[in-house]
Formats: sequence, C-alpha cells, structure tokens
Amino acid sequence: MKHRLLLTIAMAALAVPAARSYYLNGPSWPAGSVISMHVQLGPSPRLADGCLDWACSAAAAAELWNVALGRVRLRTVQDEGVAQGRQNGRNDMFFASNAYGYALESTTLAVTTWWQRLGRITEADITFNSALQWDSYRGDIERRLHDLRRVAAHEMGHVLGLGHPDEQGQTVHALMNSKIGNLDTLTVDDIQGVLALYGLSGAGVAEPIGTVAFPPRDETFEFRAWLETKYRDALGRPATLSYTDVEGSVVWVQEYLRYRLNACGHEGAVGRVRIQIAGGGIVGACGTPKPGSVIVFPSRDETHAFRRALEAIYRDDLGRAAVKTYVDAEGDVVWIQEYLRYRLNGCTHAQSVEKVGRQIDGFGVQPVCR
Ligand SMILES: [Zn+2]
Repeated sequence: MKHRLLLTIAMAALAVPAARSYYLNGPSWPAGSVISMHVQLGPSPRLADGCLDWACSAAAAAELWNVALGRVRLRTVQDEGVAQGRQNGRNDMFFASNAYGYALESTTLAVTTWWQRLGRITEADITFNSALQWDSYRGDIERRLHDLRRVAAHEMGHVLGLGHPDEQGQTVHALMNSKIGNLDTLTVDDIQGVLALYGLSGAGVAEPIGTVAFPPRDETFEFRAWLETKYRDALGRPATLSYTDVEGSVVWVQEYLRYRLNACGHEGAVGRVRIQIAGGGIVGACGTPKPGSVIVFPSRDETHAFRRALEAIYRDDLGRAAVKTYVDAEGDVVWIQEYLRYRLNGCTHAQSVEKVGRQIDGFGVQPVCR
C-alpha cells in the first residue's frame, strides 16, 4: 500500500495556534528500528549554513528528530552511485522530477512515498523536486530558494508516521503542516506526535544527564523575585509584557544552561529544552565538560537568543497569554545567567545576589568565589 504526502510552497505566515494536536497516519516503525536514510542527493552548491554537502543538511534534519525519539532512531548514510528504487528495502532520498511516476508540480517541494505491512512501516523514500532551486539555511524562507534541511525534517516526520495536522481541520504551529513557512525547526506539537508514536525521548539515551550540578531551583526563584523588585523599585523600570512567565523563565533558562555546560551547542540545547516542554522528559546531555576550575558559560548573545526562542515557544507552541513583569527579556536572561555563573563558581546564594546587584549598579563583573 502506497501513500504520498505533498509539501506545497506557501509564503504566508503560519496561523495562530489553537489546541495542540498532531496527526498520526497510523502505521509506525517497530520498536528498536534504526531507520537508515540513504542520501543520494549528489553534489551540492555552496550552502549558506556552512554544510559542505546535502548529506550534512540531511543529517542535521535527522538530528532534530533523534533527540526527541524514544524507541527508534533515524540515521543518514551517504550512498552515492546506488540506484534508488521503490520497495527495494532501502529508504532513499533523491532529487527527481517525479516520484515513481507521480509528476511533481512546481508547487510541490518534496514527496514521501511509504509502504506498510500490518501496521508497520517497511520503507519510506523521499523525492525532492529537482526542478527547484535548493540551499540549506535557517530563518525566513526565501521566495525561490528552498531550504533542504527544513523540508527534509518535514519529510522525515512523514517517514516516522506523522501526517499534516492542518489537513485534519486543525490549526496548530507545526513543521508538519502541509505548507512550509518561516518555521525552521520542530515545535512542541511535532515532538508530541513522535512521543505518542515512540515513547519518551529519554528512554535508551546513553549519555549522562550531566556532571555540572545546579543550585536548588527555589533559590533561583528567590533570586528572580529579588530581581523583579530591584527593577521595579530601585531602577524604576516600567512594566513590560512577556509570554514566558517568571517560573517558566527560571526553569528553562537553567535547563538551557545545564545542557550548554554539559557540552551541547546552542541549537542542541534549545531542541532539548523544547522536548522537555513538550513532556518528553529530561534528554541526555551531549557529553562531559572538560575538567577545569572555572565553569565557562555561553555568550550572552546565545543565551539571549535562547530567551527569544523560549518566548516564541510560549507564544506560538503553547498559545500562552502575555503576563506583566518589570524585568525585560534581556535583563531576565542575562541576570539569571550571571546569578548561576556565580553559584556554579563557589558563591553562596547571598553572595551571588550581592554580586549581581553590584553588576546591575554599574560596578562591573565581580570576581567568582573560588
Ligand atoms: Zn508533508
């Protein structure tokens, strides 16, 4: 039995989300499957995101899913020069003008063709439209230059067994919607779809949770409450709006930093936090930090970028209403990070609050306590 799922081009912004609800096509891969995708996309032009070839872009797409996957995982294999084919027992990714006789129109970016037997997917091939211009990049989509990574990630969602939520009368923020837009990564809804199919992502993760230990969360909350008062009363800042409430900010900034300090890159850490927000549980860290006396935090630019991503998750994925706070988003994330930096470098709660206070008052970065 064969199904085809089309991804069409749309420049329009994604609609406002209502209730979250992914759509499952039905069949799934058996537990324990390593789903090997054979990348047969040929040579690439110079790619905007620094990938040297299409295989790199396809592997990055698979990795977006892998951190969220429980009982199965995706693997990409560069496999040039081998003829692709329907029902050959391999999952092929290739450029063509038609998918096994089905002509790809100019509005169709890619097609996933899959086969199943007794509710189990047995093979899935991805055909990218060879008549279109392709690159690999992040951010807003360009009109006539298509991003292979996000389209591959969408198609891999079909390979895993997800359908299009927007074709089932649902309005959700999801990469699995039938029309591609400026969204370049998975959303909470996409992740909840694969959690429903394959269980908690933490299951079977070999990496440790991380060796860098953080202070108890109630102390970070206490710090954040102090910061609110400092901004309102001492600095006289006006109230502003934030989609992320104070509790969410403290919990998720701390989790983001925990992943970063345990060897995850920015994107890997954001992806792991998103999985936790989706209910996927704690995801394995990326490695063990190098031994050293001072714990090095990520740059403020990256932490601030995380805070903006968190704001988008609360607004778009979770549909939260904005709440009032006196601490703007940048101050929120920068000072939580500074508080934690002091805490992780030998300072007590009281010392850390005092040091951040002096920084806010313009006395510069304070020495750590070891
Ligand atoms: Zn699709």
